[in-house]
Amino acid sequence: MMPDGLFGSDWDPQTVLNTTNAVYIVASILFILGLKRLAHPSTARTGNRMAAIAMLMAVVITLIDRQIVQVPWIITGIIIGAAIGTVLARQVQMTAMPQLVAVFNGFGGAASALVASAELVREQDAVDDVAAVTIMASTIIGAVTLTGSFIAFGKLQGFVASQPVLLPGRNYLNAVLLAVAIGLAIFLVFEPNTFAAFAVMGVIALALGILLVIPIGGADMPVVVALLNSYSGIAAAATGFVLENNMLIIAGSLVGASGLILTRIMTKAMNRSLANVMLGGFGAADGAAAGGAAGAVEQRPVRSVSAEDVALVLSYARSVIVVPGYGLAVAQAQHAVRELADELKSRNVSVKYAIHPVAGRMPGHMNVLLAEANVPYDELKDLDEINSEFDRTDVAIVIGANDVTNPAARTDPASPIFGMPILNVDNANAVVVLKRSMASGFAGVENELFFLEKTMMFFGDARGSVEDLVREVKAL
Ligand code: NDP
Repeated sequence: MMPDGLFGSDWDPQTVLNTTNAVYIVASILFILGLKRLAHPSTARTGNRMAAIAMLMAVVITLIDRQIVQVPWIITGIIIGAAIGTVLARQVQMTAMPQLVAVFNGFGGAASALVASAELVREQDAVDDVAAVTIMASTIIGAVTLTGSFIAFGKLQGFVASQPVLLPGRNYLNAVLLAVAIGLAIFLVFEPNTFAAFAVMGVIALALGILLVIPIGGADMPVVVALLNSYSGIAAAATGFVLENNMLIIAGSLVGASGLILTRIMTKAMNRSLANVMLGGFGAADGAAAGGAAGAVEQRPVRSVSAEDVALVLSYARSVIVVPGYGLAVAQAQHAVRELADELKSRNVSVKYAIHPVAGRMPGHMNVLLAEANVPYDELKDLDEINSEFDRTDVAIVIGANDVTNPAARTDPASPIFGMPILNVDNANAVVVLKRSMASGFAGVENELFFLEKTMMFFGDARGSVEDLVREVKAL
């Protein structure tokens, strides 16, 4: 029996529709304001909360409006969902965030494809042309997003080989499969009742998701995850058209557009085109691997120093720029770094942080880490803001960063990262690099910065090294 839902059976249908749409409008405004606030570290937390509240409002009003379940079930669902979300948010490491987002995208794509497919089964021959087109779009994009996201998750988590898997003729194979899927979709718009064709189309889309992502190396996975995030939004928007649900259309479009913008920001910061990332194979020759620790070991001599040596250099410095990278996140050194900065500032040293847009493994990675350690936002400087300051800086301290400081990006046209905007750390008077070994970074390439005369290599886990430094600076 269909439950009455919160509106009850006495409600005028127009009032129900108006109430639902009013809630949708408020939720949409909150989504847009939330997204806007995510653009800056100081407002990101409230932005996230606004978007979460908007999502809760949208889900609850939809369930009530469509009388899908009774209120106790809605509350039970909220409690179970909130419990899973809380456990995930507490357990998952910051460095594993891209894989978590990949899983979310995969489920989002699957949900859109399943809802659209269910609509086809429910409507059968009664489905109109517009709905049929959007059902096919949602199914294909959702299925590609599902399998593509799970391959990305596997590559990032390490149970699918992170190296690019380059099948011969893969681009032709993918083009043929895509053409067949689109051909079947067109056929199905006219013959929606042909379930065998629908199933074949779905299977081809699932296979395409796998084939499109396996040639791409682990290093490029965060870009792929951002793109798949966009796909999941487009699939959701298409499902919104199927269900004639304005909220789903708006939320899906916002996810689709913001995912695409994020992908663009990331590829631009890496000086790569989207086609170059998606066609795959980057880093296959030099064995670049997620995490970078597998990179080449350099035999040329470098200047290795101790905490005491670095503290001495810092004791003469008036200006210091900290350059954080992926290793800072791995070592969880953010609190120690803040302590070092406080100690230096108490000695009248100017301390700033240079944030590269793709430092770490996801956009904003460094901002989030440093915010966790309560580093003042006004000390965080973007690449464009800080690059001209290095030549006026006494010491640049590079903590677990590698690729984003590699001068080869400016000078060596043969380097795979040539053209990528980098932090001009090599312009500082002295450079101190904190890392564990001479292993390469994510791109799997050697860093000329480490071999410069002005560069001091302070080897060790970043957290232990910075803690040693704090002790030595305090002892000065
Ligand atoms: P890199 O990956 O270039 O280098 C990180 C360095 O950290 C390594 O060389 C490693 O050296 C060191 N390291 C790792 N663990 C520790 C530790 N515990 N203590 C000290 N050092 C450590 O990082 P960057 O941040 O410089 O560059 C990011 C890279 O990721 C770029 O190539 C970028 O294109 C790519 N990327 C970034 C994305 C983003 O959105 N941020 C998305 C996609 C790709 P060692 O092992 O010797 O310690």
